[in-house]
Amino acid sequence: MKKRAKRNTVITTDTVQQFQCIMSACEDNCCRNSGWTISVDPVTYAKYKAMDDEMGEFIRSCIVEEDGVAKMKEFDDGKCPLLVDGLCRIHRDLGAEYLCTTCTTYPRVTTFFNKRPECWLSLSCPEVVRWVLYRKETTGILEFTAQTRVHSNASNAKDREKSKVREFLFDIAKCEKYSFMEKLIYMGLFMRSISKLPLDSEFIRAIKEPLETYRGNLGAKSIFSGVIDRLKNTDDEHRANMLLQLSGVSAAAVSHIKKVPEDLPNASYYKLMETFYSDVTEGNAKDYLVEAFDRLIVPYVNDNAYVFNNYLTYVLLSSQFLADTDDFAEAYAGFIGEICAMLIFTAGLFHENTSLSHEDMVVGIYLFHRRVSHSKKIRNSMAEMFKTESLAFLLGICRGIN
Ligand code: SF4
Repeated sequence: MKKRAKRNTVITTDTVQQFQCIMSACEDNCCRNSGWTISVDPVTYAKYKAMDDEMGEFIRSCIVEEDGVAKMKEFDDGKCPLLVDGLCRIHRDLGAEYLCTTCTTYPRVTTFFNKRPECWLSLSCPEVVRWVLYRKETTGILEFTAQTRVHSNASNAKDREKSKVREFLFDIAKCEKYSFMEKLIYMGLFMRSISKLPLDSEFIRAIKEPLETYRGNLGAKSIFSGVIDRLKNTDDEHRANMLLQLSGVSAAAVSHIKKVPEDLPNASYYKLMETFYSDVTEGNAKDYLVEAFDRLIVPYVNDNAYVFNNYLTYVLLSSQFLADTDDFAEAYAGFIGEICAMLIFTAGLFHENTSLSHEDMVVGIYLFHRRVSHSKKIRNSMAEMFKTESLAFLLGICRGIN
């Protein structure tokens, strides 16, 4: 597919541009212990190959080539050998222009929806979690024009309609008249109503009416009463089973690390994570998970709704919501599944606490996004689990959250 440079609309949030990495002050530096593959792009690799000094030799000794792709070696002590005292030697001694694309951009990410670039920050970085979620104003979506490389094919009419659906979900996430739970319900009612539309050429005509109706009713509360009553009456045993099943899905998708460095400030949280996931796989988590969710998560979310209102907008953007599917019910189920799984993960991690602090929640969110939901696999499994459940049941997992 041909690409060319042109002025293009870029979507981002108002928090993306001013983000600053805190480098050596970071409690879980992304160059340590990540277990991620750091690929080295060909242009940067050629620069390293052209260096005829000791530094060049050292950098090349840290890289392996597999199937023609260059990447940083995995090291037994859990950290990139180029990291010294929390600073990257390439950055410190040669300058940022010598970093590979992965290291230059993280935690900034650019993806494309309907051929339009979207820039966001990865929630796998603890400082990003504090920066984008812990501020009182609800995150706003920004649009600006910039010179970008774009796919030359024009977007098709159906993708343009899907963009409108996505933009409407951003509007729901921002709606100040709704609580966190009401936003989830309104999104669910809308997504389930449009999931019944024909997906052929009729779609473009058929989507207009529900979009207009739901836009017109945004902010009205009367629509919720039936769902909220059913949600309050969710069967306890079924809810407990779903909580356990969800934690099982994320346990299966967790990426373990070979060795957590003992001097890592957040090393103890990795131990909590390992313990929780062995409890899940060995069947012990059922003794405490529901109680921990109700005791820790429910009051925390209710007391700090602004964090989760920001989270909604942010996950819609960063999950590339609707980019890879035309199935609206499935996309919604995966989205809700991911949010619930993050909350369950945090409850499991801190089940021995009497309450949750802001920093506990920061750890729950960044570790979940770093260790569990780095791929679409988990979202797809959650969508599979949830898509046949009723909306009231699905959200009944979060019973008690306003
Ligand atoms: S995890 Fe975030 S704050 Fe920490 S070193 Fe990486 S980019 Fe910087």
